[in-house]
Amino acid sequence: MSAYPHARFLISANSTAQFPADDGTEVAVAGRSNAGKSSAINAITQRHALARTSKTPGQTQLINFFELEAGHRLVDLPGYGYAKVPPAMKAHWERLVGSYFESRVSLTGLLLIVDSRRGVGEGDLTVLEWLRRSGRAAHVLLTKCDKLGRGEAKKQLQQAASALGPLASAQLFSAHSREGLEEAREALEALLNKKPR
Ligand code: GDP
Repeated sequence: MSAYPHARFLISANSTAQFPADDGTEVAVAGRSNAGKSSAINAITQRHALARTSKTPGQTQLINFFELEAGHRLVDLPGYGYAKVPPAMKAHWERLVGSYFESRVSLTGLLLIVDSRRGVGEGDLTVLEWLRRSGRAAHVLLTKCDKLGRGEAKKQLQQAASALGPLASAQLFSAHSREGLEEAREALEALLNKKPR
């Protein structure tokens, strides 16, 4: 059975005016393009097509809102850091996501998706810094860990933890092997149950 049997897509927003009502709580999911964000959302919610996985990174520049259950939402932020993104698109991303972080009262935390083979990058730290300034919590999923050997995965987790410091907690995750799925669901629930600002 799905973890959120009544999960449903609400709206793709291109500006703050299109955001749904700012009540209850919501958790945003962010990550570098192609890090595995859509796959992670689908695995965590057990809804295979809730978030569309794409092979063309850097395309979606919309904020997708999903209702998980009454009063709780998951918010899929557009991917960042794709090398070929034109400057105007990057500026749009910063405006859109910046205004989302600044204005959203119901946003209680962030799940940050990081490819475990790449490790925590500059773009990831920028997003976490934005979030920290507003006093919200974050949890990092080091995705695609099925592609790493045991020892390598452990090393990547340690490296991520030291790069993140107090900015976020972190865990290994794989949408394919489902490693870390329960831990990720618990982290999501914990963030959703935090008090809004
Ligand atoms: P997004 O751009 O961040 O939403 O990334 P997607 O979820 O679309 O995934 C990007 C690519 O990584 C796709 O080819 C996925 O099949 C692959 N991928 C995603 N998660 C995993 C995982 O846990 N393990 C492996 N091996 N591949 C994954």
